[in-house]
Amino acid sequence: MSNNEKVLKKAQKLSIHEKMFQCPICGGAMKVERMASLECENRHCYDISRQGYVNLLNHSSKTKYDKALFEARNTISGSGFFGPMVEAVTNRLIHELKSRESVKSVKLLDAGCGEGSHLSTIGHKLREHPLVPGILGVGMDIAKEGIVMAAKTSPDSIWCVADLSRSPFADQQFDYILNILSPSNYSEFRRLLASGGSLVKVIPDRLYLQELRTLFYTGTGKEVYSNDSTIELFSRHFEQIDAQRVQYRVVLDNDQMKQLVRMTPLSWSASPEAIGPMLDESMEVTADFKILYGWNQG
Ligand SMILES: [Zn+2]
Repeated sequence: MSNNEKVLKKAQKLSIHEKMFQCPICGGAMKVERMASLECENRHCYDISRQGYVNLLNHSSKTKYDKALFEARNTISGSGFFGPMVEAVTNRLIHELKSRESVKSVKLLDAGCGEGSHLSTIGHKLREHPLVPGILGVGMDIAKEGIVMAAKTSPDSIWCVADLSRSPFADQQFDYILNILSPSNYSEFRRLLASGGSLVKVIPDRLYLQELRTLFYTGTGKEVYSNDSTIELFSRHFEQIDAQRVQYRVVLDNDQMKQLVRMTPLSWSASPEAIGPMLDESMEVTADFKILYGWNQG
């Protein structure tokens, strides 16, 4: 397929869903124009890339999240490190979607999707399930490198480079918002959720990567982690909440350990002396997550 044909195919898919978008500059309604870009009524224009994502940032953004980091995260996803956590989220969604009376399709936004592996896995499992209605997966992240990888590996979903503080979607578009190990913007989440929709937020729990924390931070006061303030903030924004803890241990080989150290912000402020010895060994590490579910009535 030529690049033009690839863009055309993506543009056709986007045009079916163009009402979902709104211009991040002026808030205007958007349309797919010339089968090549999304354009608002005030002529702000966002090109559809040949890899099939749309860049809706109106400035370039420099983040710590570069290509190497997303490759590391993809390797760790492939190692199964996130497996039971992603499965817990998927099972909960399947349970809720099965009991829905309406059979209309369900829109799922992954806000801060990175390189897209969680949304890909969850979307794939939901689509496979015979009792779950049609799923449209939409992933957004401010880091273009992540979105480029996501669009290449998982063409089933719609992928956008965008800023969560001015997300490029119209009000009440999503039945679910996933926010996995990524910063939140609750006023945007509230605006984007459809009536009866819910936010699924995954945060580290107390023992998450405790082996790394001990090695990096013993004696610095940073060796103990608490998510209390995050949970408190979450509960202030939703009338009803529910929480689930998912904890397990995973053995990673020395190459996977290298990628884990590269991936985790824990290592960004650790000394090279603390990190060095970890890179030559396999290790058993603790995965410990809290999954928060929040929704509003009406
Ligand atoms: Zn505009």
